[in-house]
Amino acid sequence: MKDDGLPPPAPQRDWALFLDFDGTLTELAPSPDAVVVDAAMPRVLAGLLDGLGGAVAVVSGRPLAELDRLLGVVLPGAGVHGLELRERPDADVHPPVEEEDIALIERALAPLVAGDPRLILETKPGALALHYRRAPEREMECRAAMEAAFAATSGLNLIDGKMVLEVKPDHVNKGFAIESLLKVPPFAGRLPVFAGDDRTDEDGFEVVRALKGVTIKIGPGASRAEYRVASVEAFIDWLKEVASVLSDTG
Ligand SMILES: [Mg+2]
Repeated sequence: MKDDGLPPPAPQRDWALFLDFDGTLTELAPSPDAVVVDAAMPRVLAGLLDGLGGAVAVVSGRPLAELDRLLGVVLPGAGVHGLELRERPDADVHPPVEEEDIALIERALAPLVAGDPRLILETKPGALALHYRRAPEREMECRAAMEAAFAATSGLNLIDGKMVLEVKPDHVNKGFAIESLLKVPPFAGRLPVFAGDDRTDEDGFEVVRALKGVTIKIGPGASRAEYRVASVEAFIDWLKEVASVLSDTG
């Protein structure tokens, strides 16, 4: 962690740009709905998308639908700290785990649940829960079935609740979101560049530094990021410069 850093390096065409929203693309506001997005932002972001082959994503704690509305342009992105992912502007929003892994557990548990109406299998986006509250004497069977099914998956966490066994995505944070997006086009094979201002962005900085990417902290405060931009205003100026350089060399 350090309190300063160099200005960001010159833009490269092979970058994959990941951008936090609040405190990075916009000034923080007294309430989340009160943020004001720079009028030039849709044009700047569209220019960046163009210059980087579509590899520009917003990575935020806000839902993607809200970011789309606030930004005035639809970007690839990760919403709700990575619980929502969208690889391309025209792609569906989905959770950050293999749907197939959830489906596999669902199929494995189906016979158990079908044989006892007191057991409830609850599916939700990217997660699944087996409730045995009404059949507590079957806990060991439920546990054995869930553990066997879970063992065949990856990227999930098994959580032992009160009369419920739940699988959820493991380690969902901005770092995991960036890693997930980097596995697929148009991000795969590009050098990650991540800019953020807050504590939750540090997970992203950690992942991007490990990949020898570019990490940019906006504003004051200790950070793992290598580079530093003093303010949102200065960062927007830098983004405009990046968009302009990329369009000149394209
Ligand atoms: Mg922020």
